[in-house]
Amino acid sequence: MVMNRVQFQQGMSLFELFEQFGTEAQCQAALEQARWPQGFCCPRCGSGEHYVLHGSTRKTFQCSACRHQTSVIVGTLFESTKLPLPVWFLAIYLVGEAKTGLSALALKRELGVSYPTAWLVHHKLMQAMVQREHDYVLCGNVQVDDAYLGGELNGGTAGRGSENKVPFIGAVSLDQHGHPLRAKFTPLPGFTRKAIAAWATDNLSPASTVVSDGLACFAGVTDIGCTHAPTVVGNRKPKQLPMFRWVNTVLGNLKTSFSGAYHAFGYSKYAERYLGAVAYRFNRRFDLRALPGQLLTAAVVCGPCPQRKIRFAEVAC
Ligand SMILES: [Zn+2]
Repeated sequence: MVMNRVQFQQGMSLFELFEQFGTEAQCQAALEQARWPQGFCCPRCGSGEHYVLHGSTRKTFQCSACRHQTSVIVGTLFESTKLPLPVWFLAIYLVGEAKTGLSALALKRELGVSYPTAWLVHHKLMQAMVQREHDYVLCGNVQVDDAYLGGELNGGTAGRGSENKVPFIGAVSLDQHGHPLRAKFTPLPGFTRKAIAAWATDNLSPASTVVSDGLACFAGVTDIGCTHAPTVVGNRKPKQLPMFRWVNTVLGNLKTSFSGAYHAFGYSKYAERYLGAVAYRFNRRFDLRALPGQLLTAAVVCGPCPQRKIRFAEVAC
């Protein structure tokens, strides 16, 4: 019943989006609120006293104390953008809503921009999602499994022996009733005890109990104090392994969404971003109406993402 409530909830409609964020002024006001919820704060000296200079498109804020000038996009993901803010807000809406993933090609059509611009907008927003997810660790009962991106699609064999693949770990924390709470999908250099211990340090609370199959490397979670509960799978089918139900379900959904939305992408280069975006959406599935606002906040706190950080993008947006 919990999953049905999540699946059928009413998100924000496109009509509501255009009504609330259809103009540059509306978007600028929303961005100001997300950036300075307590009112303007000078990024140089911290003073709140300021003048507003109205330019042709965006307001310039001048600090009364130190005379520093800034705008609402400086210091955010939107810094130096040439795109109108309503286009960014539509992108935030579409990327946030896209439960099954969204290709840059689809985004190009929806936004009415060039493919390289859509690609860069998409990757910048995914980067904001990834950075936001870094702030959270999983705790309590956590199901984990090893998985791969890319191997099957490139004609190799599936599973642990596949070629041309990016290994990643899928992890799902459960609440006291055994329902899934949060997920994390993280690329790893390989399934070694050292890699798992490093992953656990960044992604798990030491008080967690980690349920995994018998792959030896998962014992690495005990290095940070977690309790490890391995189960030797043998020839048993998924239905006979309820202890892995949710991590199997979530990884299955991830695989379906990737095969539907993305024909191919640079798995080794961008796996963290695509996986992080899936986790970001999953972890905010309980309140779809709040998601665009949350992604806007993520884009504000993420800070600038210049092209060298995003890599291989050829145009500015
Ligand atoms: Zn100042």
